[in-house]
Amino acid sequence: MLDEVLAKGKSTLQTVTQVRWWTDRLLTFTTTRPAEYSFVAGQYARLGLPDRNDVIWRAYSMTSAPGTDSLEFYGILVEGGRFTSLLKHIQPGSPLLIEKQPFGFMTPDRFTGGDDLWMLSTGTGVGPFIALLRDGEVWTRFKRLILVHCVRHKEELCYTEELEAMARQDAQAGRARLQLLRLVTRESTLAPPADLQGRITDLLRNGELERTAGVALSDEASRIMLCGNPDMIEDTRRLLHERGLRPVRRALPGHFLTENYW
Ligand SMILES: Cc1cc2nc3c(=O)[nH]c(=O)nc-3n(C[C@H](O)[C@H](O)[C@H](O)COP(=O)(O)OP(=O)(O)OC[C@H]3O[C@@H](n4cnc5c(N)ncnc54)[C@H](O)[C@@H]3O)c2cc1C
Repeated sequence: MLDEVLAKGKSTLQTVTQVRWWTDRLLTFTTTRPAEYSFVAGQYARLGLPDRNDVIWRAYSMTSAPGTDSLEFYGILVEGGRFTSLLKHIQPGSPLLIEKQPFGFMTPDRFTGGDDLWMLSTGTGVGPFIALLRDGEVWTRFKRLILVHCVRHKEELCYTEELEAMARQDAQAGRARLQLLRLVTRESTLAPPADLQGRITDLLRNGELERTAGVALSDEASRIMLCGNPDMIEDTRRLLHERGLRPVRRALPGHFLTENYW
C-alpha cells in the first residue's frame, strides 16, 4: 500500500523521531524532514498514516520553525477519530507520510501595515503561532505580539515554559514584545492577569481582552490571525466586522486571516 502511494510521487515517507505526551490526549510529535520540503511559518502539512490497506490523510500545522532540520506537530486525540486513533500509537521509528507540498495562507506576509499581531487560538489551534514565534520574522515585522490561547482546563496549556521564556526576553530596539493571554473556560483557580476566565468572544465583547493586553483593536494598528474551533472563528469574525475590521482577500488588504481546524 505504501509503495503504491509513494509511486504517485506526491508524498514522501518520513520517520517519527520523538513523541511527547503533555496529557493523555495532547501530544507533540517530531519527524524527519524531507530535504526539499520548504514552508513558511503558519502553514500546514498533509500527513498520512497507514491503516491496513489504506492511508488516512489529515492536515497538521507545523509548530517547528522553517529553519529547523526536523518537522514538529501538535495534536489532540479525537474520540473515535479515524486518523487520531492511529496517531495515538505512534512512537519513535513509526512511519509517516508527508505530502511534498505545504499548504495554507495564514502567513504574516499577507498583511500590509499594522503594529500589533494578535494571534487568537483555541486548543491545538495555537500550533501555527508556535511556529511563527519560533521563526524570526514576526519579531521584527511587528511592535507587539499578543498570543491568546483558549482551552477548557489549565493542563491543556502546553508549550508554556517555552512561551514564557520568549515573553521574558529583554526589550531590544526593533524587536517586538510578546504578551501571553491564557483563557480557561472550565476552571476557576487562575493566576491573573495572564490567566483569564472565559471565551475569546466573550472577553472581546466585554473589552477584557484588550484591557488586559493594554492594547486596543484598531484598523490601523491591529492585524489578527484566528485559528482552531470554527465556532470561535465565525463568532469572532462577526465581532471584528462590527468593529470595522475586514478579512484579508486575495487582492484586497485587510485586518484578519482565519484557519478552521474542522
Ligand atoms: C488546515 C488544518 C490544520 C489542522 N491542524 C491541526 C493541528 O495542527 N493539530 C490537530 O490536532 N489537528 C489539526 N487539524 C485537524 C486534523 O486535520 C484532524 O481533523 C484531527 O486530527 C482529527 O482527525 P480524525 O480523523 O481523528 O477525526 P476527524 O474525523 O477528522 O474529526 C472528527 C471531529 O473531531 C473534532 N476535531 C478535529 N480536529 C480537532 C482539533 N484539532 N481539536 C479539537 N477537536 C477536533 C471535530 O469536531 C471533528 O468534526 C487541522 C485541520 C485543518 C483543516
